[in-house]
Amino acid sequence: MNGLHPKKKIFLLYYSMAVKWTLQTLIAAHSHCQKNKVEILQSTLCGCIQCLAQFEPGEIFDWSDDQETAMCPLCDGSNSVIGNASHYPVENVEFLQMMKDKWFDQQYQ
Ligand SMILES: [Zn+2]
Repeated sequence: MNGLHPKKKIFLLYYSMAVKWTLQTLIAAHSHCQKNKVEILQSTLCGCIQCLAQFEPGEIFDWSDDQETAMCPLCDGSNSVIGNASHYPVENVEFLQMMKDKWFDQQYQ
């Protein structure tokens, strides 16, 4: 951001802090955790919203729901794996953490 007007730098800083994933996005993304085998196998990277691990689809060795839903190879979580073929930012740990907060932590409070 070198060379930008200072006011513009401040605007960009606030803008990047304000843009988070909406609740709607987190809810829509969760549907990609279920019956996701086709999408997972089209992905190059997967993320787990339970343990926040990132791994390649080839590391998945167990499937639930009649072999249709990926299970996390690291925490055995079911309905917790999203592949990047979903176009959700699974490479971003902050996104995985927000999904975890929404779907795993708050659920049991
Ligand atoms: Zn996991």
